[in-house]
Amino acid sequence: MNLPPAWRSLATLPSLLLLLTGCGDAPEPDTEDDAAPVVEVAPEPETPAPPPWIEEDVAIRSGAVITSLLQDQGLDYSDALAVVQSAIEIHDLARIRAGESVTVRKDTNDGSFLGLVYPLDRFEERRLVVMRDEAGGFEALEEARAVTRVPTPVVGQVEGSLWATGMNMGLSAENLVHLAGIFEWEIDFNTQIRPGDRFRLMVEDIQDAETGEHLRFDSILAAEYETHTGTSFLGIRYEDKEEKVGYFNAEGLASRKMFLKSPLKFSRVSSKFGSRYHPVLKKWRAHKGTDYAAGSGTPVRAIGRGTVAFKGTKGGYGRHVRVKHGGKYASSYSHLSRYAVSSGQVVEQGEVIGYVGSSGLATGPHLHFEFYVNNGQVDFLRQQFPRSEPIDASERADFEAVRDTILPELEAIPWPAAAVADADAQPAEDLQ
Ligand SMILES: [Zn+2]
Repeated sequence: MNLPPAWRSLATLPSLLLLLTGCGDAPEPDTEDDAAPVVEVAPEPETPAPPPWIEEDVAIRSGAVITSLLQDQGLDYSDALAVVQSAIEIHDLARIRAGESVTVRKDTNDGSFLGLVYPLDRFEERRLVVMRDEAGGFEALEEARAVTRVPTPVVGQVEGSLWATGMNMGLSAENLVHLAGIFEWEIDFNTQIRPGDRFRLMVEDIQDAETGEHLRFDSILAAEYETHTGTSFLGIRYEDKEEKVGYFNAEGLASRKMFLKSPLKFSRVSSKFGSRYHPVLKKWRAHKGTDYAAGSGTPVRAIGRGTVAFKGTKGGYGRHVRVKHGGKYASSYSHLSRYAVSSGQVVEQGEVIGYVGSSGLATGPHLHFEFYVNNGQVDFLRQQFPRSEPIDASERADFEAVRDTILPELEAIPWPAAAVADADAQPAEDLQ
């Protein structure tokens, strides 16, 4: 059985009902009413009739395809093809691989094939249903599962990596990338995450509307990240009138800043700003930048919007790109293997300007990154840039209404107890 539990329970419910109501091979008249003492029988309350089929999960055998599965179910080859053909606009059933399952619907009386059900996404919110139609052919439709979105508290404390911590709490990779994205301008999630950091979230829980079953977590409505040193960052989700989503602190300042915390998405700092023994020149000299270790070909991002002021080979820097950010700031990227921009070009924050390499005076592939204030190099890792953009005046009232709803809920989430060495820490749902 490859189907996740949520789907399985949905699939087996009708057949369970059938068993309980005694629909066997030969339908029997309901004798219960006859046996009961005859009293005035009120009109029976409408109970939804169980569907006239039994559902069964069937896996595709190794080396087999959907048509052979359908033939195993008693269809002839042309009917099997007709099933596939009927669904082709919704999903190509021929692409289902060995080991995957479909749910087959069989006639409760003779066990003949009536149709099939196949989930269309991994969260089982949409599914394909193919049923025999009255003309003896097959008809396919896409069914959407009714879901509700319930704001739900989630709290965690980093043990090991943020990744492992989040996964243990039931957050998906998408959720964690999203969480890191909210604070990308304030925390370098590659280099600054430490055990003891903690975070709490109000996150949309997508639940089955009928059973209330948890399917997945979706949008982060509000998040607070507190580092092990006690510095705290807040992001409140706000979707403006043009449906643009941003995160803001309680004062309505956007978490987006003038500069990213790192020119590389995934990396580690291998050499900091200051003096060091130069491995190629074999002497002590000032290191007026930050080195990031990364494989050759890793994309290098402009840390902020600006204009490419220089692109070309420059002595020990090798292939070098310098970006001017207004009149005061500039950034440069060296030892590149190749360029992705041209001189004079305007680049957006996060746009790839080139790729990591080892051109110039470099022992191996890495990015040498410099940051300039008024044309002098400064230690980029020590810069504090204030949140810049306040929320638009025309959006402020709406934002404050959102904030005043979600912030008290976020702040009501209790932090985990100080010593959470226990591997069986409470799942977030229990804290509700
Ligand atoms: Zn360097």
